[in-house]
Amino acid sequence: MTEFELIRTFFARQNVARVDVAAGIGDDAALLQPPAGQQLAVTSDLLVSGIHFLPDVDPFTLGHKALAVNLSDLAAMGAEPAWFMLNLTLPKLDDRWLDPFCRGMFQLAKEYDVQLVGGDTSRGPLAIAIEAHGFVPVGKALRRSGAKTGDAIYVTGTLGDAALALRHRFGAICLPEQALGVVVERLDRPTPRVHEGMALRGIAHSAIDISDGLLADLDHILEMSHVGAQIRLDKIPISPTCRAYIREAGWDTVLAGGDDYELCFTVPERNIAALEKLQPACGFHRIGIIESEPGLRILDEAGKPYQPRETGHDHFAEKMNDS
Ligand code: ADP
Ligand code: MG
Repeated sequence: MTEFELIRTFFARQNVARVDVAAGIGDDAALLQPPAGQQLAVTSDLLVSGIHFLPDVDPFTLGHKALAVNLSDLAAMGAEPAWFMLNLTLPKLDDRWLDPFCRGMFQLAKEYDVQLVGGDTSRGPLAIAIEAHGFVPVGKALRRSGAKTGDAIYVTGTLGDAALALRHRFGAICLPEQALGVVVERLDRPTPRVHEGMALRGIAHSAIDISDGLLADLDHILEMSHVGAQIRLDKIPISPTCRAYIREAGWDTVLAGGDDYELCFTVPERNIAALEKLQPACGFHRIGIIESEPGLRILDEAGKPYQPRETGHDHFAEKMNDS
């Protein structure tokens, strides 16, 4: 198969056709028409085989996740996804890999009406870089830098399931089949909180998506907003499965494990009534408060300070092939 046939067979066959795409795949560049009065939110994420995923990972899952992590970044800005680019290096043109990869990716693309508008393809070690573009009305984007003293801190959904699945995979804990199925689903097929992020425009002061663990990502908000915070362990939402194994796995799994792709955001007291009206299916859970004193203070169920051993994921803080 030639590169041209590959593009025609796999990437041009998608089920999203947006009116704001004047020219998509096929020309030298895509021609895109952003709506008047909106800013473009642009993000990209690179997934490298052996670093971010195991070489034998299910390609359907990988297609979903590669797009999902980008949509999650758009969600954290309060942006509405519109377009994405796919840059791919492949060891060989293997349609038994490409077909499920594209199905996983396009299924999610359809769900959020986001169109693949171009990219590049080359032979090389397996790596996937997706760049996603979304719209947000001028001045309405949710920034990491907007948190203010007195804001309540919230997270969407539940935290820790993906990290629990990873700990099982690396042999740190051993989960029975049913529990494993639940948490592997959260690791492999995260739901980007796109609708929730858009609904938080004009309500949240700041937001971030939790990819490296709550502590690391909340810390980005604190640093960029020049504030501190206090959170309560017993307020952090975890799934029944996670609760059943929290003693064995430890709270650091939830606090620093990463791969949650939930949103963490802060809301001033005057907007809490508006927030409570939203009632998303995934839930919004209040976990703490922004304070003027720098640093993050974690209290356990008894109100005593809790000292985490890990703080989050940093690819350069360890041997590259450890992650
Ligand atoms: P060029 O020589 O300009 O790089 P290509 O032959 O690489 O052009 O690509 C031809 C068309 O196919 C372009 O519109 C490009 O955006 C698209 N394309 C190439 N690779 C991909 C990909 N992995 N996903 C989506 N579109 C792609
Ligand atoms: Mg090219």
